[in-house]
Order: sequence, then C-alpha cells, then structure tokens
Amino acid sequence: MTEINRGASAKIIDGKSFAAGLRARIGAEAAKLKAEHGLVAGLAVVLVGEDPASQVYVRNKSKAIAEAGMQAFDRPLPAQTSEADLLALVGELNADPNVHGILVQLPLPEHISAHVVIDAIDPVKDVDGFHFINTGKLWAAGGTLVPCTPQGCMMLLRDVLGDLKGKEALVIGRSNIVGKPMAALLLAENCTVTMAHSRTNDLPAVARRADILIAATGRPEMVRGDWIKPGATVIDVGINRIPALSDHHPRKMRLVGDVAFEEAVKVAGAITPVPGSVGPMTIACLLRNTLIAACRQIGLGHPAV
Ligand code: NAD
Repeated sequence: MTEINRGASAKIIDGKSFAAGLRARIGAEAAKLKAEHGLVAGLAVVLVGEDPASQVYVRNKSKAIAEAGMQAFDRPLPAQTSEADLLALVGELNADPNVHGILVQLPLPEHISAHVVIDAIDPVKDVDGFHFINTGKLWAAGGTLVPCTPQGCMMLLRDVLGDLKGKEALVIGRSNIVGKPMAALLLAENCTVTMAHSRTNDLPAVARRADILIAATGRPEMVRGDWIKPGATVIDVGINRIPALSDHHPRKMRLVGDVAFEEAVKVAGAITPVPGSVGPMTIACLLRNTLIAACRQIGLGHPAV
C-alpha cells in the first residue's frame, strides 16, 4: 500500500513503503541472477573528498546495495585528487567485469569537471543515467538507464494516478539530475509538460494549472498552498535543512521540502512528505539500475522489477 488517507486532507504518498517493496523485489531478482547465472551485480561508488553530506549518501547507497545481495565497491579518493587520476579510476572500473554500475558522487571538487568525468563512464555502467548518450536516449528513444530520482517520482505517480495521459504536469527546476529528465519521463507518459525555473514569470499562476506538480528547486517551502490546484498530485523532491526554531536546542535543524507541506496537504489530492518519500525511492532506483545494468551486460533481458 502506498497511500495513507488522512480524512479531508491529501493522501500521503508513502514512498518509503513503496521503496521497501521495490527493494525486496530487487533483492529476489539479484538472488535469482546469482543462482541461475553465478553473477553478483556490482556497483562501484566513487567519492572524491570528505563532504559530510556526500559521505552519508555514499554510505547509505553502499549499505542498500549490500542489503539487496549485490556487491558495493567503495572507492574513496582524497579531495586533491586530479581529474586525470579520477579519469584513470573510471577507466579501470569500466574495464572491471565485476563492476556493472559506476556512480561518481556529485558534487565534485571545483578543479574537476563533472561533465568530463560522467562522459568517461561506460554508458552501459552509467547507473545514474547522467551520461550524454543516456540523456539523449531518454529524450529520443527510451529504454536506457534513467536517472534515479525522476524514475522514483515516476513510479510513485503511476502508482497513485495510473494513466497520466493528457495531464498538465509542471516541473519546477531544470537541473540535469532532476528537472530535465523528469520532464522527459512525463512527456513519454503523454503529459502536457511545462518546465519552470528561476526566471519563470508568475510561477504561482503557472503552478495553479498543474494536475501534477513536481518541485525540485532546493528552495525551502517555496511552493505555497495557494499555488496548488485543488486535488493536484504534488511530488516534493527538495531536501532542505533549516533551523528547527527550538528554544531548548537553538542549533537544532529539521528537514523540509520545496513545498510548504502543512499548507499544501490541505489543497492537494496526494502529496509526498519530506523526508521519507522521494529520497527512499532514489536509493531503490539506484539498486534497480544496478541490477538492470548487470543483466544487460550478460545479455539478459530486463529483470522483473
Ligand atoms: P539544482 O540547484 O541543480 O537546480 C535547482 C533548479 O531550481 C534550477 O533549475 C533553478 O532554475 C530552479 N530554481 C531555483 N530557484 C527557483 C525559484 N525561486 N523559482 C523557480 N525555480 C527555481 O538542484 P537539483 O540538484 O535539481 O535539486 C533540487 C532539490 O532536490 C534540492 O533540494 C536537492 O537537495 C533535492 N534532491 C533530492 C533528491 C532526493 O533523492 N530526494 C535527489 C536529488 C536532489
């Protein structure tokens, strides 16, 4: 079950339990791959530097891979690693038959070009779906490794709404990681897609037209309740850390999304909470992409996940 009804307010889209179910199915398929083909799907996780948030993300990803019965190869590198040395590691991982997926945690230090590094990853091992070839395929042909966060949002939308054909979908944010691939996926589902960004005029008016609203801006609680069309489905991708305003713990922080949840929940038809919905789906979709990549690399079809 992926929705909890809260009386008169919006359904809460429970991405956490959806992700748990997906991870269980991935684990079962990974076990089958091992039993029938002797293959343990492997993901290399490359982290350059000691950014604490990135360290947490990387740890969680490696742990989830291990829990699904796949193998994580952690490759931490010092912050001063040169672009040439990072490219050499990517080349080594591209050639390693035990590594089916390669993830280079972003952001990279300023002296390294993320574009150059991502483009050096073998597209069949590009489990983040950020390589130019996979980006192009996503828009033009489909059937590729899809970026994890938008893929997770799409699964939740299909679960809540079923057929998305003809719906007005608004994506706020145009990053290569979330906004743009999200728009491509919604278009492929026959939505009428609008992309908004920091230069969009009268965003509240644009938002009020949307049957589906995806917020991916990194601006805490930017989307207000009165921007939302009554009954709309709201997917909040944002993860923002803001002061908790606690008298007892003045430095305490709390996580909020890009949507003012308490306002939006009174207007929307369904909404994802932050934290605990899109985040868990992102990790589950990384496991899914690793399994898909491993299956393809030995000539198998799409696993049943
Ligand atoms: P980004 O900074 O690369 O892009 C933000 C986008 O928002 C830009 O395209 C910009 O034009 C737009 N924007 C900024 N201010 C705006 C405004 N006032 N009005 C309209 N548009 C505005 O960010 P990103 O990497 O796409 O991430 C967006 C958010 O999603 C962040 O909070 C990030 O932490 C979160 N995120 C969450 C997950 C997850 O797994 N839940 C994954 C990736 C990103």
